[in-house]
Amino acid sequence: MLCCPSCKSAEIFVETGGFTGMIYRCKRCGYRGALVVEVDEDIPEAERKKREDG
Ligand SMILES: [Zn+2]
Repeated sequence: MLCCPSCKSAEIFVETGGFTGMIYRCKRCGYRGALVVEVDEDIPEAERKKREDG
């Protein structure tokens, strides 16, 4: 899961991606840049298993 480095919101999405890298934009604070914080999703073990099984 990607988080905004500025406001820590998860409402961040890819604006452009290409050879130069990805540019992200944050819906909440308007941050725009290549740097984002990646955090592990907080999924319970049971839920994680379910997802792995497809
Ligand atoms: Zn933000």
